[in-house]
Amino acid sequence: MAERATIIGAGIVGICTAISLLEKGFDVLLIDRNEPAEGASHGNAGVVSPWTCVPQSMPGLWRSIPKWLFDPEGPIALRWSYLPEFIPWVIKFLAAGKEEGLPAIADAMQALNRPNVDLYRQLLVGTGSEHLIVDSMYVHVSRNKDAVDLKSLAWKLREERGVPIEVVGPERLREVEPELSPSYKTGVLMKGQARAIDPGGVGKALAEKARRMGAKFLKAGVDRIEQSPTGEWNIHTDAGDRKATNLIIAAGAWSARLLEPLGYDLPLEAERGYHLIFQNPGITVNNSIMDADAKFVASSMAAGVRCAGTAEFAGLDASPDYRRAQTFVRLAKHLFPDINTKDTIEWMGSRPSFPDSLPCLGQIPRKKGLFCAFGHSHYGFGMAPNTGRVVASIVTGEPVNIDLTPYQISRF
Ligand SMILES: Cc1cc2nc3c(=O)[nH]c(=O)nc-3n(C[C@H](O)[C@H](O)[C@H](O)COP(=O)(O)OP(=O)(O)OC[C@H]3O[C@@H](n4cnc5c(N)ncnc54)[C@H](O)[C@@H]3O)c2cc1C
Repeated sequence: MAERATIIGAGIVGICTAISLLEKGFDVLLIDRNEPAEGASHGNAGVVSPWTCVPQSMPGLWRSIPKWLFDPEGPIALRWSYLPEFIPWVIKFLAAGKEEGLPAIADAMQALNRPNVDLYRQLLVGTGSEHLIVDSMYVHVSRNKDAVDLKSLAWKLREERGVPIEVVGPERLREVEPELSPSYKTGVLMKGQARAIDPGGVGKALAEKARRMGAKFLKAGVDRIEQSPTGEWNIHTDAGDRKATNLIIAAGAWSARLLEPLGYDLPLEAERGYHLIFQNPGITVNNSIMDADAKFVASSMAAGVRCAGTAEFAGLDASPDYRRAQTFVRLAKHLFPDINTKDTIEWMGSRPSFPDSLPCLGQIPRKKGLFCAFGHSHYGFGMAPNTGRVVASIVTGEPVNIDLTPYQISRF
């Protein structure tokens, strides 16, 4: 009889893990209270970069935080009632950005990201949705002509890891992105990557593939998990109880809640991001554009031009504040003067963020049959296919070809 695995969470991480386990002959059940790929995996910026290796916390970042917090259009926002929860996390976050620890974090980020373009292309073969992943550059742009300092730590981390970078001036920028405002004076092109023109659509196409491969989906909210005296895992859901011998937690920003009753107090923050889609933009953006001044990403997608970004700290349960999404109207006009900003769709989703920008992957110590696959922060769309492969190999006990130490849950 085939071995069984149950996955809590049908975001892009849970779905990719399901496919990898199905390929290894497992019977797979995915449990999610929503339809597949409706969480953070639905509304992200769609950047699929094999080169991603710079974590969120970097030396000196603390200097910018007060200025950003008091700017209503700044890249971060805090609900002041959330301050007591935010402070312990941000202290850990800033501590994770010490220079001496960054090369190891960068290596661990890149190890998960490196094959992502090829893996998405392989995963999508035969789904009819192959067109949702397109070749792209990542173009970081700034109005400040001196903004790019290749000697700075972030660019050095990339250069040392072989990221193909070209620094360009205004003329070349306009060749690459004709709609960009002339006020942008410099840019960096990162080549050889891809972008999704509908990240949620990619997740749904892969969920459908998993279904065709035999995966079952249960639409239910998981209230609690506990281990029975025989070692099996009992999963208590609002649609009845289930049992599992192999249980994978891939519940994104909600994952820490499920592990709390088992004694884990994990610094997993809901880093809430927003997007605004301009449905009739009247312009086309050729690549993923990172506005390095305002810290958001713009990309042409199937539904229009999507601007995505911002990090709001308000906890998992606070209702969205769509003023954050509306700031993209003015920011998008700065970037692309000719964009039509009427007819918008706004969205909020929670990034599952640990202080060190790395996920927790692997067997949970002393909890036989319980595995973690969560905490991919700003990079989960790109990291998901390799996460799926790695976690499936851990479940089967097969060798994994990357060092798993940086992703251990016991690091907290
Ligand atoms: C604005 C924004 C832009 C981003 N841009 C990028 C980008 O360009 N590139 C990139 O790589 N990453 C990006 N990210 C990050 C990326 O989207 C996330 O890291 C990734 O989607 C996380 O996937 P996940 O499957 O872990 O979580 P999710 O997609 O959130 O899925 C978790 C699932 O678990 C379910 N769940 C949780 N708890 C329970 C429970 N108790 N019972 C039942 N179901 C439960 C939820 O319903 C949800 O479906 C961005 C994120 C945001 C917010």
